[in-house]
Amino acid sequence: NTKLVWFRNDLRVRDNQALYSACERAAQMATSNAAGSGVVAVVAITPEQWVLQDESKSRVQFWLANVNALKAALAGLNIPLKIIHTANNETLPQQLLTLANRYKVSELYFNNEVPEYEQTRDAAVQQLFLAQGMGCHRFESDVVLPIGSVLNQQGLPYKVFTPFSKAWRQRFTQSEQGPLPAPQPLMSNPCGDVESDIIPTDIGYSLCLGADWNPALWPAGADNAHEQLQRFVGEHFPDYSQLRDIPSQPGTSSLSPYLTVGVLTTRQCIAAVQAYSDDPEWFYSQWVTELIWREFYRHLLGLFPEMSRFQPFKPEIEAKISWQYDKAKFEAWCRGETGFDIVDAGMKQLLETGWMHNRVRMVVASFLTKLLRQDWRLGARFFMQHLIDGDFASNLGGWQWSASVGADAAPYFRIFNPTRQTDRFDPKKRYIERWLSPHAELLSTDLLGEPTAPVLSRPQPVIDYALERRRSIDEYQ
Ligand code: FAD
Repeated sequence: NTKLVWFRNDLRVRDNQALYSACERAAQMATSNAAGSGVVAVVAITPEQWVLQDESKSRVQFWLANVNALKAALAGLNIPLKIIHTANNETLPQQLLTLANRYKVSELYFNNEVPEYEQTRDAAVQQLFLAQGMGCHRFESDVVLPIGSVLNQQGLPYKVFTPFSKAWRQRFTQSEQGPLPAPQPLMSNPCGDVESDIIPTDIGYSLCLGADWNPALWPAGADNAHEQLQRFVGEHFPDYSQLRDIPSQPGTSSLSPYLTVGVLTTRQCIAAVQAYSDDPEWFYSQWVTELIWREFYRHLLGLFPEMSRFQPFKPEIEAKISWQYDKAKFEAWCRGETGFDIVDAGMKQLLETGWMHNRVRMVVASFLTKLLRQDWRLGARFFMQHLIDGDFASNLGGWQWSASVGADAAPYFRIFNPTRQTDRFDPKKRYIERWLSPHAELLSTDLLGEPTAPVLSRPQPVIDYALERRRSIDEYQ
C-alpha cells in the first residue's frame, strides 16, 4: 500500500500538491491500520535525456544539489528518497515500475509538466502503472491556475498577454487559497528498512554545455530560496518597476533558477509579496505581472502543443522570413564577439554565469533574429544549453516574442537598436564594462557601444546595423 511520489522539477516539500496528497492518504490509511501505508519518493537521473533536451551543465548541477536538499527535507518527514539511473525517457517507465514493485507500491503521485516530451513520458508511465492495477494521481502544481482554466468568453485560449493577465488576476482572486504547507511528518519510515540513496553530484552531465553552477550566486535548497525571496520583497520589490530594466543593478529577484527546478513556486512568490510588502497595490504590481508572464507561456504551451515541436505561434509571419543560417555570424554571437558591446556583454554574462538579465536577453535575441536574421530556434537551443534557469516554456515564449512569431500584440518591426538600448539602460556602461573587461579600460566614455567606433581589442562589428535593419523591415513587411 505504499505511495510513491515521483519528483521532477518540483524539488520542494512545501506547496507540493502531489506530495501533500500522498502523505494525507498514507496518514489516513495508517490510522485505519492498513499495512505498509507509507510514502517513498523517487527521482530519475536521465543523462541522455538531458542532452537531448538541451539541459545546461549549471542547470543539471543545480538540480542535483537541490535533489540533495530535498532528500534532507524528506528525511524530516520520514520519507526515503530513492534514485533511478536510466538513460532516457524510453527506459524510464519500466525502471519506475520495478522500483514500485520492490516497495509494494499501490499508487503513484506526481505533478504535471507541460512540454510534450514530458507529457509523452508521463502518459507512458501512467499507462504502465494503470495496466498493473496501480493508481496514478496527477496534479497541477507547476502553475497557479490549471492549464485550460483561463479562457475568454468564447471558451477559447487567450492569444495575447494583457487580456490573459486580466482574466488570470480575476480568477486568482476568486479561487486562490494560498500555498500548501509541508505535509505532517509520517509516523515512521513506511517499509521499515528503506534507506535513502546517495545522490551523485559529479556524474551524468559530462556532455551538457555551459558554465558550472556557482553555489555562491544560487545556494541550493528551499531555505535559501525563501531567504532570497524575502530579501527581494523587503529590499527591492518597491523599486522593481524603476530598476528592473537596468542590467547593472540588482533590481530583479534572480529567483528564476529556483522557480525553474521547482524549489519555489509562483504561488509562494505571490504569497510572499502579500505578506511582506507594504504596497496596497501589490497584486497589480509589475513583479506580479512578470510572474503571470510565466503562467501565460505555460498555458500557451499546454494549449498549443505544436509549440513544443518548435512550431511558431504565428507561422504566417515566419513564412515571410528567409533565415540566413550563417555559421560565422551565429558563432560570433554565441561567443559574444559581434562587436556590439551590449550584445557581447550579455553573451559573456551567460557564458560565465549561466544567467542573463531580462533586458539583455531581449536585446541579444532581437539582434540574432532581426539583425543577423538567424533562425530563432538556434538561439533558443543555445540559451537552453547555457541557462541555469533554462525553462522550455518561458524560453520558447521569449524567443518567439523576440522573433515576432510568438503570442504578441506589438508590431512586427520592433527591432532593438543596441546603441539606443545602451543609452537608455546602461548609459554609464557599467554592465558592459563588467562583462567585457579586461578590455573595459579601452572603451571611451562617449562611444556607448557605437558599433563602427574604432575600439581597440574589440571585434569588428559583424554587420552594418542600419543596412540590416532596413533589410529586415523589408522582409517582415
Ligand atoms: P524577475 O524580474 O525577478 O521576475 C520574477 C520571475 O518571473 C522570474 O524569475 C520568472 O520566473 C518570471 N518571469 C519574469 N519575466 C518573465 C518573462 N518575460 N517570461 C516568463 N517568465 C518571466 N525565463 C526563464 O525562467 N527561463 C528561460 O529559459 C527564459 N528564457 C528567456 C529567453 C528570452 C529570449 C527572453 C527574452 C526571456 C527569457 N526568460 C526566461 C524570461 C526572463 O528573462 C527571466 O525569467 C528573468 O530574466 C529571470 O530573472 P529574475 O528571476 O530576476 O526575474
